[in-house]
Amino acid sequence: MGNSHKPETWSTSAGRRPEWTHNHERTGGIVNPPVWRASTILYPTIADMDAANTKQDDTLFYGRKGTPTTWALREALTGLEPGAAGTMLYPSGVAAIVGAILSVARPGDHILLPDSAYDPTTAFSTGVLKRLGVEAEPYDPLIGAGIAALFRPNTSLLLLESPGSLTFEVQDIPAMTAAARAASIPTLLDNSWAASHFFKGIAAGCDMVMQAITKYVGGHSDLMMGSVSATAPFFARLRSTAWQLGQCVSGDEAALALRGFRTLPLRMARHQQSAMEIASWLKAHPLVDRVLHPAFPDCPGHEIWKRDFSGASGLFGVVLNVGSRADAGLFCDDLQHFGIGFSWGGYESLCIPTSPEKLRKLPGYKPAGLSLRFSIGLEDPADLLDDLSSALKRMEQLHDRPLDE
Ligand SMILES: *Cc1c(COP(=O)(O)O)cnc(C)c1O
Repeated sequence: MGNSHKPETWSTSAGRRPEWTHNHERTGGIVNPPVWRASTILYPTIADMDAANTKQDDTLFYGRKGTPTTWALREALTGLEPGAAGTMLYPSGVAAIVGAILSVARPGDHILLPDSAYDPTTAFSTGVLKRLGVEAEPYDPLIGAGIAALFRPNTSLLLLESPGSLTFEVQDIPAMTAAARAASIPTLLDNSWAASHFFKGIAAGCDMVMQAITKYVGGHSDLMMGSVSATAPFFARLRSTAWQLGQCVSGDEAALALRGFRTLPLRMARHQQSAMEIASWLKAHPLVDRVLHPAFPDCPGHEIWKRDFSGASGLFGVVLNVGSRADAGLFCDDLQHFGIGFSWGGYESLCIPTSPEKLRKLPGYKPAGLSLRFSIGLEDPADLLDDLSSALKRMEQLHDRPLDE
């Protein structure tokens, strides 16, 4: 196994350590780290058991501390975030966010989260975290270096998510992490949209970078998992918190995630290309008010996306100039190639209505008509365009109806 971190090369070789692929003697080995299922690890003697190092990664101790299958996935993910010292795995993306927040937040603290944050992140911050005595304050996702004005002596975490969930504002991560670092405030980025492929969060100054493995790394809509990669000063706290919270994933699911990982760069390229084609087509349609996609100049933060990202994934939003949430069925129900369902990042395309204005804590966000979110999969984009063309024809009947207030 070479040590190239070029995405296509790293994705095919990551985690294939000789000791994890039955190649200890260097006489040959298997390509994929096998699925290890384990709870109990048996020791030959008590002396061996006493000598087992409970504090270390990469040593069999007890199932919850992992096996070569999970270690290989952790190593692969760490390689996606240059500058990261290690990665922890969680049974869902939400669990990963929670694990990262709990590694730094204490009672009496104040944390900052973007107003465009993933809904369950906000729910945790205003739910369990509040109960633990932590105050969460929403901020304008486009605030940039101005975030420093919101820092308080007890601010213990700056949450970042770029682009924002549903509304896709791109944040100035380098400016915000610089401001946070100057004030000794840790930063945590939700990097799920870019899958740590099109954006490198640790290199941009983040202390911890989370991604929903459920989405692009999994890629096949058949597993739930989350990860957090962290710099050395934060990894130790992250790991001990994850262990205390009892977080772990199974060998079977780690193997599925690794299988997805092998084709991540290839799939991301296709997701990007098809989504660009479809978003461009939608942008030119008379019933479309706005396309919420960072690669388009009218997306808030587009210039930052151009400066900091190496591409765009397949998830974007559209706001129509007709209809409202009540008309979502008219658009979605007869789609042939788009599924109606939550999550995203799989090989199959999805379309759901969204209501970002209902989730906002800060005033000002108001869509013109029905808002939709598309996850563009790996189908032939011509089929997807046919489908959307028919859906928009169905929406034409709403054209003369006054918009809901
Ligand atoms: C889906 C999602 C998550 C959570 O992932 P789950 O595995 O579904 O818990 C976190 N952040 C973002 C931006 C997401 O879209």
